[in-house]
Amino acid sequence: MNTQKIIDKIVETSQGSIDELINILNSDCDAYLFKQADQVRKKCCGNEIHLRAIIEFSNHCRCDCSYCGINRQNTSLTRYRMELDEIIDYAKKAYAAGYQTMVLQSGEDPWYTREKISYIIKGIKKLGDIAITLSVGERDYDTYKQWKVDGADRFLIKHETADEALYNSLHPHSSFKNRIQCLKDLKELGYQIGSGFMIGLPGQTLDTLAKDILLLKELDVDMAGMGPFIPHPKTKLKNYPVGSSYLTLKALALTRILLKRPHLPTTTALEVTNIKDRKNAFYTGANVIMRKVQPYKYRKLYEIYPNPSIHEKSIGKERKEVEDYIKIIGRKVANTRGDSIHL
Ligand code: SAH
Repeated sequence: MNTQKIIDKIVETSQGSIDELINILNSDCDAYLFKQADQVRKKCCGNEIHLRAIIEFSNHCRCDCSYCGINRQNTSLTRYRMELDEIIDYAKKAYAAGYQTMVLQSGEDPWYTREKISYIIKGIKKLGDIAITLSVGERDYDTYKQWKVDGADRFLIKHETADEALYNSLHPHSSFKNRIQCLKDLKELGYQIGSGFMIGLPGQTLDTLAKDILLLKELDVDMAGMGPFIPHPKTKLKNYPVGSSYLTLKALALTRILLKRPHLPTTTALEVTNIKDRKNAFYTGANVIMRKVQPYKYRKLYEIYPNPSIHEKSIGKERKEVEDYIKIIGRKVANTRGDSIHL
């Protein structure tokens, strides 16, 4: 079968074999793939783009991820923790600016105990009809269960790479099996779940990428984020090249045609490697964009990869700029919470 026919088949049946996915990733049939992904996005998700506010509330981390700039071995980084009420206060500011989803992200920081996170969830839930997405890494089942009871709606925990041996070598503190178990537990507990992976990790092949996309399907994710790997000078992978944003767009488009319904953001990593590809992502399957809302003094320090220099603006002004941008590219700003789409 030629590549166009494979793409048509996947669009029609939502099924694809690993060889078929590799064929597409390998081919130069990108214009056709992107067009189909855009149509599937339009049909399944509409023209709305969802804006999410992200509060990166702590850069303390007990993990040793080989790619991540806030890994615990990076002693040159100034570490910060936001106070519980400060986090709630910034969620309040973001809500006032129009955001209806708060993504609470941090390194794996046990200082934020089960009870402290519960306090934050309840505090934010009192502010209004706000969806809460947690992105705080691996915790035990009972903790995830409690946070769901407290009102958390979604959980982002990327599988990072579907190659188990590669995963384990990049994450000496944990294991692929545990990461996947977390995703399954979270789904069982009723969370809308988000996974995702990096493109261009050293040792990754197109075969791995195809498996990454198939794993998203197997996990039946509600959201998936994929972004290029960006080397950070204070990590073991500092000398490796940045991942391809073109391949990132292909993986995004392929995810859209195979899975259809998940919310797919233009990841910040994609904006950092190539700002033009932020726009391109909206034409190749993406329907979500996230904006940081924590104080600027912390934004600089949440350095999972080198941050571009930032021009300080208010949360409201920044939101307005993104809204204008969405309108310019002919899409609509969503005015709902943007929960999971069930087809
Ligand atoms: N501690 C949380 C949040 C991790 S940071 C957790 O474990 O889920 C959020 C995401 O940033 C990671 O899942 C990873 O996919 C991405 N990331 C981290 N370092 C990166 C790098 N150097 N280049 C590209 N993406 C990176």
